[in-house]
Amino acid sequence: MVDKLDINTKAQSLRRELGEDLESSIDIFSLAHTVPKLTLVYYPMGERISGMCIKNDGYPVIAINSAMSIGRQRFSLAHELYHLYFDDSEHSVVCAKKIGGGNDIEKSADQFASYFLIPSVALESFIKKFKSDSVGRLGIKEIVKLEQYFGVSRQALLYRLVGDHKLSLEEADKFRDGVINSAVNLGYDDVLYKPLPENKQYKTYGHYIEKAEELYEKDLVSTGKYEQLLLTAFRPDLVYGEEFEGGELND
Ligand SMILES: [Zn+2]
Repeated sequence: MVDKLDINTKAQSLRRELGEDLESSIDIFSLAHTVPKLTLVYYPMGERISGMCIKNDGYPVIAINSAMSIGRQRFSLAHELYHLYFDDSEHSVVCAKKIGGGNDIEKSADQFASYFLIPSVALESFIKKFKSDSVGRLGIKEIVKLEQYFGVSRQALLYRLVGDHKLSLEEADKFRDGVINSAVNLGYDDVLYKPLPENKQYKTYGHYIEKAEELYEKDLVSTGKYEQLLLTAFRPDLVYGEEFEGGELND
């Protein structure tokens, strides 16, 4: 069984541990860099997998399916943090795309991701402030505002609102289609609802890169080997410079 109260406590404690308060929207991609010894890999993994967590004897690797929308990737990363911090299994785990499915560990990881990205206190006060009518029903305006504020995909938001009895399943179903249009028509950017362009879906950050640099600085690997290590980790930008990425302007 999934113990929501316990999972909520875990989500709050990890937010605190990583230096976040219990109310704000968080930049989870940046936050993941503060997880000790973590290597983060973005890699397009097709239709069915959202991500994976490899414990690797204290040198963990989290891989995120970068072919999914940014909002969904944020949820996947929070989901994998559950495996890293709270799932006792020593094994690697590969996670399916469907939110709220799978065994109890998978369900717990989804519930955790939801509480981690959308703290209950913040959700409550947001709804109180913006509900659309006197009975407090949530309309498309509030739905888009919520997913934009917390940076989650529509499916992730509806999963939470149904789970918290803020919407019935039937009501939620009305909001599942035409997601991008609904946001754009209300004046929002569509960044949250799309993956990055294909040439930017491969990337490695964190411990692995740090270690490669260290080996090179200490003269423990040749320049060729160092470059090979970076190229294997999809970091041509570190080998050839930013121009490789298409010469964008840096701000
Ligand atoms: Zn999982």
